[in-house]
Amino acid sequence: MAVADVRSEVVRGGRVLALAGLSDMVWGHVSARDPSGRGVWMKANGLGFEEVTDDDVLLLDYDGNVLAGRGSPHREYPIHTEILRRSAGVASVVHVHPPHAIALAASALELQAFSHVAGVFAGGVRRYRDGAGLIDSAAAGAALADALKDDRALFLTGHGVITAGPSVAVAVTTAVMLERACHLQLLAEGYGGVAAPLSSDEALQVYAHTQTDKHLLGAWEYLSRKVDRYRSATSLTDQ
Ligand SMILES: [Zn+2]
Repeated sequence: MAVADVRSEVVRGGRVLALAGLSDMVWGHVSARDPSGRGVWMKANGLGFEEVTDDDVLLLDYDGNVLAGRGSPHREYPIHTEILRRSAGVASVVHVHPPHAIALAASALELQAFSHVAGVFAGGVRRYRDGAGLIDSAAAGAALADALKDDRALFLTGHGVITAGPSVAVAVTTAVMLERACHLQLLAEGYGGVAAPLSSDEALQVYAHTQTDKHLLGAWEYLSRKVDRYRSATSLTDQ
């Protein structure tokens, strides 16, 4: 993928997250691995997802130095640099603060797969309990990356979520699905909880169709078209 395309994909990923309700004002970020191995592309600090244009997407090296783009990096850039440094199969990382995921992670509940959207997470989503504060050092980012292992999603208890994938499309859509799954579960909990929970093995079987990147990409394409329709209807431009 060309650099211009990577930057545009990071911008689009943020807009999808904003439209899906995963913004927390100016906090949260999407990253993509630089195709030439120079580092990580992610938005500059101080901007909401929907405000970002290509020029606001910075290229950071693995020590956080700005190699291209306009603005200063987020303090939590080590989340991205350290996961991408360790996991060759990951090309994009998302860190956001979605309300229902934060609420579920703060509770004693495990995420349960009782819907198609939660079926994506039938294998379970673990909690990382040492990430409540800012993850703003290489050591903190490395500890988080070690905790994530090869999982696609991780709750940061008291803070937010991390998702990772082979593309911005997959990492972003995973975050959107996770927030929806947590929202559904909190609804169910308000009415006594899930009466007949599936085991993880049963859920993996019942919801097998949700376990592919193709499934996620179908949702991404829709969300991406929705962003375009919204921007066109509201006369937003990239300049
Ligand atoms: Zn954060």
